Amino acid sequence: MIVISSIPLVTGFVTLIHSPYIGRFAPSPSGPLHFGSLVAAVGSFLRARSMGGQWLVRIEDIDPPREVPGCSDDILRTLLAYGLEWDGEVLYQSQRLDAYQARLDSLMANDLAYYCQCTRKQIHAMGGSYDGRCGALETSLDHGAIRIRNTVGIDKFQDTLMGEIHLDKAFANEDFIIKRSDGLYAYQLAVVMDDDFQQITEVVRGSDLLETSCRQESLFALFGLTPPTWLHLPLVCTTPGMKLSKQNHAPAIDIDQPQTSLNAALQFLGQPQVEPRQQMHLMLEQAISQFDIDLIPKQTEIILS
Ligand code: GLU
Repeated sequence: MIVISSIPLVTGFVTLIHSPYIGRFAPSPSGPLHFGSLVAAVGSFLRARSMGGQWLVRIEDIDPPREVPGCSDDILRTLLAYGLEWDGEVLYQSQRLDAYQARLDSLMANDLAYYCQCTRKQIHAMGGSYDGRCGALETSLDHGAIRIRNTVGIDKFQDTLMGEIHLDKAFANEDFIIKRSDGLYAYQLAVVMDDDFQQITEVVRGSDLLETSCRQESLFALFGLTPPTWLHLPLVCTTPGMKLSKQNHAPAIDIDQPQTSLNAALQFLGQPQVEPRQQMHLMLEQAISQFDIDLIPKQTEIILS
């Protein structure tokens, strides 16, 4: 394996050391970077750098069945080819499993989470939202998926771009899964613990995760932690409701001609074009100086023409 995280990653950008802003890009290594993930990477990078802040990269590799061998290195190489240089070491979620388990042990020991063996079919029969029945049993189950006792049920939050977001109360109140029945740690648990661990001040990502932010807000509250602010970018879609994704075989972005795709990503984000340059960091410097959050379309999705 190529150890990309050991490449000296000193950024070419002047960062204001005292800026408290810390942003991040958190890809799952289930396929190469495609145009949709490039938009999230560029958007979070420009926002962080224009705030004089840090930009971290976290590889969310806690779902081995969905991972493609070599993909993490490939994603990191692509980011570097685009001049998207991160601060510090890359954090791999696969190296944080002990921390996730320690948190689960403590939640279970304090009856703040419980085992559940309900099937999808049973939950469907409950109306689609889990009703908490395994958490109300007189004798607790001793295996299965683990659900959080969601006593806060946060159903609204502020998005920096989209304004106040309101969620369906049944969805917001649900005791959601934090460890799956197959033993894998759930995204919601890992993302909240790591955004806290890395002291992320603002999460910038695609709008496919807009609704799920209220679950993350709930976990932050239940853990007694301060949540980051949220900024959800429009999602790149092929048709209404169909995001460009690894699952629908979105083509990998061009690593040899990054100039064109970078300008396409800027255009998608409503930002002015930059002069094509051989050195990507020069293009990005111009993009940072021109970056204007108010120009980002306040839409959850945009169909690629
Ligand atoms: N790992 C997630 C993905 O690739 C993104 C998680 C996040 O930004 O919170 O879709």
